[in-house]
Amino acid sequence: MDFDIPDELVALRRSFASFLDHEVRPVEERMLPELWSYAPDREALYDAAREVVRRSAAAGFYAAHMPEEVGGQGLSTLGTALLVEDAAASGLRFGMVAVAPPNPSGPSTMLLAMPRHLWPEYVEPVVRGERTLCFALTEPEAGSDAQAIRTRATPAEDGSWVLSGHKHYITNADRADIAIVFAVTDAEKRAAGGITAFVVPGEALTRGKVQWTMADTHPAELFLDDVRVPADHVVGEVGLGFVAAMDFLNAGRAFIGAQALGLAEYALAEAVAHAKERTAFGRPIGRFQGVSFPLAESKADVESIRWLVYHLAWSVDQGRSPMLDASITKMVATEKAYAVADRAVQTLGGMGLLREGPVERVLRHLRMLRVVEGASGIQQLVVARSLGL
Ligand SMILES: Cc1cc2nc3c(=O)[nH]c(=O)nc-3n(C[C@H](O)[C@H](O)[C@H](O)COP(=O)(O)OP(=O)(O)OC[C@H]3O[C@@H](n4cnc5c(N)ncnc54)[C@H](O)[C@@H]3O)c2cc1C
Repeated sequence: MDFDIPDELVALRRSFASFLDHEVRPVEERMLPELWSYAPDREALYDAAREVVRRSAAAGFYAAHMPEEVGGQGLSTLGTALLVEDAAASGLRFGMVAVAPPNPSGPSTMLLAMPRHLWPEYVEPVVRGERTLCFALTEPEAGSDAQAIRTRATPAEDGSWVLSGHKHYITNADRADIAIVFAVTDAEKRAAGGITAFVVPGEALTRGKVQWTMADTHPAELFLDDVRVPADHVVGEVGLGFVAAMDFLNAGRAFIGAQALGLAEYALAEAVAHAKERTAFGRPIGRFQGVSFPLAESKADVESIRWLVYHLAWSVDQGRSPMLDASITKMVATEKAYAVADRAVQTLGGMGLLREGPVERVLRHLRMLRVVEGASGIQQLVVARSLGL
């Protein structure tokens, strides 16, 4: 076994670090008042994020995981996970939009299951950062139990489909140019071939209200009011949409894990720096075991997340579909990273709680990652099943 990061990925990380410093940091610094505000100018934040996405797409980082034939770099899962980690570890809020995964508004390899003649319209502009997506699976009556969705797709006589239903908690649903919508095409089967994924152009969507969260991601409702979708707008095969969604989410666990890893590294570095600098009772607080031992535990957590994430990414690159490893990684990475961020908040004291401080946003984001894309309880379910329980 070789645990060294290949030289070409080391070089890629170096050039990405320079990109973050020169192209993203100035945007971040310009937008700090909005990032700290409780009532930010959302349009200004969105425009700044789009600016970063365009710059990153032009530099080849944003959609590096996509194949070259659609404008990506064909970067490995390990390489992409390293970029996601470094973006999060930079501490830059806009760094996390510079690499598309695990953000569902960016290009997804799932789209490659569409007919090729549709790629120029639905895939390539997303790779270039000109258009955005949303991934519309969750519904008010179907979250963890995603097979319980009620959105229907009924076949019409001319071969097209008519979609009707209500989605909620969908990231970027208020702005997406294109939606991947999951609908029941055979109510009897569902997981075993009854759910289909469709590509729906933004004009056909009815947008619902934005759903404000404690994190900086605010999903929205989406309504499909008898939307007619051509027969060739099916992603993959009719009836295999649920399988495709699970495959997509499993492969994405390396990226959500990498984001948790990067955020944990950043929170730990901030906590250590503060512990060395801040004095109380006549000495740096890091000299008290009550402060240093929790940070030692954080260091152990960061390293255990790292090896789970790298191993999962490597396994995906070997062509495996390691569902159990993916669940363990999602659960351990997000839970442990949250604990690391919580200790960082405690170490920073009042500064830990400030909007203007370095770690408050990190804690909120990691709290979200423990719920989205399969809450920790659902990952535990998968792991328990692997034990025959
Ligand atoms: C900010 C945000 C962004 C999101 N973005 C998207 C998106 O882009 N696309 C999309 O489709 N969805 C999205 N979601 C939805 C997200 O994936 C769901 O919220 C998540 O899957 C949980 O579903 P739920 O909220 O309905 O909770 P529920 O399914 O009601 O679960 C509530 C709790 O019960 C636990 N639980 C349920 N069943 C079991 C069980 N059998 N064993 C153990 N524990 C169990 C869960 O772990 C959870 O802790 C987003 C949600 C948020 C908050």
